[in-house]
Amino acid sequence: MNECIFCKIINGEIPAEVVYNGANVTAFRDINPVAPVHVLIVPNRHVNDIRDERAFEGDLLKEMFQVANEVAEMEGIAESGYRLLINYGRDANLVVPHLHLHLIGGRPLGPMVARR
Ligand code: 5GP
Ligand code: ZN
Repeated sequence: MNECIFCKIINGEIPAEVVYNGANVTAFRDINPVAPVHVLIVPNRHVNDIRDERAFEGDLLKEMFQVANEVAEMEGIAESGYRLLINYGRDANLVVPHLHLHLIGGRPLGPMVARR
């Protein structure tokens, strides 16, 4: 049984605000957004994370970034700008073990990483 929360969103088992629904890639709004636009772009087929070799099969990553650009257009932030990021591991606070690309924008985002 697949307990992956993002697989369940893709399968429609749990609700999410889906903004793009393709054959290989789905995009939905983050449940706890850090900016006015915060969308997660995910492969429909389960891939654990960016160090999973399945991430590099075919054109999956390319398609995820293309969808991110498309969603940025749809959300009206292509001109103002946005940030695309992928977390991996403890230091980056990866929480959900299903590969996802964050699309974040809609306000000035400040420095890439807080300095401290
Ligand atoms: P991570 O830290 O793993 O890169 O980011 C996981 C993201 O998934 C977080 O920004 C979190 O708010 C989001 N998230 C976690 N659970 C759910 C959920 O059930 N639905 C949606 N739409 N987003 C979720
Ligand atoms: Zn999954």
